[in-house]
Amino acid sequence: MATLKEQLENRTKEYDHWATRRRYGDKGPNNRRLWVLACMDERLPVDEALGIHVDTPVGGGDAHCFRNAGGIVTDDAIRSAMLTCHFFGTQEIVIVQHTQCGMLSANAADLEAALAKKGVDIANLALDPTLPELKLAKGAFAKWIGMMDDVDQTCLKTVEAFRNHPLIPKTVTVSGWIWEVETRRLRPPTLDSEKRTRTDVTAAQFGVKGKQPARWG
Ligand SMILES: [Zn+2]
Repeated sequence: MATLKEQLENRTKEYDHWATRRRYGDKGPNNRRLWVLACMDERLPVDEALGIHVDTPVGGGDAHCFRNAGGIVTDDAIRSAMLTCHFFGTQEIVIVQHTQCGMLSANAADLEAALAKKGVDIANLALDPTLPELKLAKGAFAKWIGMMDDVDQTCLKTVEAFRNHPLIPKTVTVSGWIWEVETRRLRPPTLDSEKRTRTDVTAAQFGVKGKQPARWG
């Protein structure tokens, strides 16, 4: 049996490597060579849903995790996925969206109108103050908000968007999942109404009228 001295030496060596892994590029990947895209919602517990340890101190470091409203594809999600897949050894992308998502709860055109009413100058916004070159075409703001009609449909489209994006290597495995807040269960996205009867997955279930501005071609 190893002495405590030897165990401590090993442990500190391992920790040093863990702490400095980004210096090694694709030779210092996270534990699972994984990038997770998830909705920011507090009812979506990423570690529990996926059975991994993203940021808990013990056994942490399983994945790079990116969270935004909806867990949808955006320019910054692509930027982050590109960096981790090309330069930090990541070989898999897992996307998690969820039922009861706030992104189902309003029509994006109404949100745009509400912001305008509050005095926001939608037509002249610097979306990223450090990158004034990044601009939306006229009328694209509501699309940019990214509200959803149907979370399962959005999840399927999000998977396709990453699979087909030129900045994501074709060798990367991409999958999408739905976390059911009501049942605390993870399931694949599906458009089969029988398989999602116990959950709220559409904007219509939130009483939202009209379709969202089309974000997908
Ligand atoms: Zn959400």
